[in-house]
Amino acid sequence: MLVRSLILTSLVFAILAGWAIPVIAGPTIVNDVTQINPIPVDEVVVPKTVDEIRELVRTHHGPISIGGGHFSMGGQTAAEQTLHLDMRGLNRIVAFSPETKTITVEAGITWRAIQETIDHKNLSLKIMQSYSNFTVGGSLSVNVHGRYVGQGPLIGSVKTIKVVLADGQLVEASPTERPELFFGCIGGYGGLGIIVEATLELADNRKVERSVQAMPVTAYKDFFFQTIRPSATAIFHNGDIYPPAYDEVVSITWLATDKPVTVEDRLMPIQDSYWFDQLSYFWLSEIPFGKQFREQVIDPLRLRGEAVVWRNYEASYDVRQLEPRSRETSTYVLEEYFVPVQRFDEFASKMAEIFTRYQANIMNVSIRHAVPDRGSVMAWAREEVFAFVVYYKQGTAPHEKTTVGIWTRELIDAVLSVGGTYYLPYQLHGTDEQFHRAYPRAREWFALKQQLDPDNRFRNKLWDKYYHPPVMSSAAMPLPAPSTAEPTERDVKKNFKP
Ligand SMILES: Cc1cc2nc3c(=O)[nH]c(=O)nc-3n(C[C@H](O)[C@H](O)[C@H](O)COP(=O)(O)OP(=O)(O)OC[C@H]3O[C@@H](n4cnc5c(N)ncnc54)[C@H](O)[C@@H]3O)c2cc1C
Repeated sequence: MLVRSLILTSLVFAILAGWAIPVIAGPTIVNDVTQINPIPVDEVVVPKTVDEIRELVRTHHGPISIGGGHFSMGGQTAAEQTLHLDMRGLNRIVAFSPETKTITVEAGITWRAIQETIDHKNLSLKIMQSYSNFTVGGSLSVNVHGRYVGQGPLIGSVKTIKVVLADGQLVEASPTERPELFFGCIGGYGGLGIIVEATLELADNRKVERSVQAMPVTAYKDFFFQTIRPSATAIFHNGDIYPPAYDEVVSITWLATDKPVTVEDRLMPIQDSYWFDQLSYFWLSEIPFGKQFREQVIDPLRLRGEAVVWRNYEASYDVRQLEPRSRETSTYVLEEYFVPVQRFDEFASKMAEIFTRYQANIMNVSIRHAVPDRGSVMAWAREEVFAFVVYYKQGTAPHEKTTVGIWTRELIDAVLSVGGTYYLPYQLHGTDEQFHRAYPRAREWFALKQQLDPDNRFRNKLWDKYYHPPVMSSAAMPLPAPSTAEPTERDVKKNFKP
């Protein structure tokens, strides 16, 4: 009853606020930001304490799904008939040490809430995404990345995590304590347990100055290696490839500086309305020559002149800037491809050819760089990579979803052909074969799941698609006797190859 009224209250709030909270479209439907993945669940609960979560796990006998901000885009937060834990109620700061530059937080907290605390001590998050609305638990489970030069996946800034396992145990994991859990849960999309707490490293909040250069796509890789990668002062960097030609990159780098700021705000102010951004995105995606006009007129004006801001300002964008007025007939979606750095040019031209052939409505391709992952089982950066972050618009009709699936699989083949991989928080178009080629240690992760969650209690659409527990894999196979024995740490380590 309490839960139902909580959900209805948030719905009313969302409607009054005039924008879509990306979660619940009806009392027991969990959806994500795209609004094209409605999933009926048995119940939604918003636990506020770790003990409450442990109790729910112990007493609820069916499957459980876990959601943070619900910004993943392919059903990664839910599955049918699950008890859905909306983690956003577990959102306190547990400990903050400016001296050691570390912070311990509950997993449902957002980056923005952390920034509001640490900014007073002139500290910043070491690694996060470009926008600050995401939860720490959701970000850890995806092992996200941002635009930070010299950094890679989020796991690179994590000291420890605390996880509630399928039997209700609360355990701590780090690279040295229960490493199998640490390296399996980070990037594990909620399949092994519920992350309830994390200790993260922080960095100094510096002033940063924007530097902008335009160049042909074919010049970008050398430019990055000669200018950005060796820079001691580059903090953020991305290169924007402009559709529909895909032959030009605008490189945007933010370099540490002592110059006075040109924007006084230390964090990006949260606005009531982002009508201008919304209108720009509509125009860009719908009006003939809108993309060319952006490239030749809007962006040169936007990126002109001196800009000096705080690091925390540049790291606190609000995703509502991107939110269209309606997602009923079309929706904005992301995809991402990771390419070994030396194969940049090959993938860039394959990608351009596919988008052009399908006339995909691509709004932006943002290039980032990542150093290798420190060991997560489901790592997307197994070596130094460039990320191609694709932001596009698609129709919501079945045939339009089908078309996106077709060109996405072609892009996955293209990235696999250059030794790269694709990102898993987005729509689940990849085939089983593509998934295993992109994530060669997935079977090791599956073995860990069988040990830690033998009854497959932690479920969502991603794992329902790719993880086939032995009892479900073949009707012809005799069902194994249900295991009552608790997996010991030794059992788990036996199956784990770091
Ligand atoms: C506009 C936009 C911009 C983006 N930019 C970037 C970017 O710059 N870099 C990048 O890497 N990604 C980016 N993403 C993807 C985004 O970072 C991920 O989808 C991230 O997971 C979102 O966090 P969330 O809190 O919404 O997680 P959710 O979508 O709620 O959850 C993601 C996964 O984590 C699991 N999960 C959530 N909380 C927990 C928990 N406490 N314990 C265990 N499992 C949990 C869920 O079950 C699910 O599988 C972007 C997405 C959008 C919409």
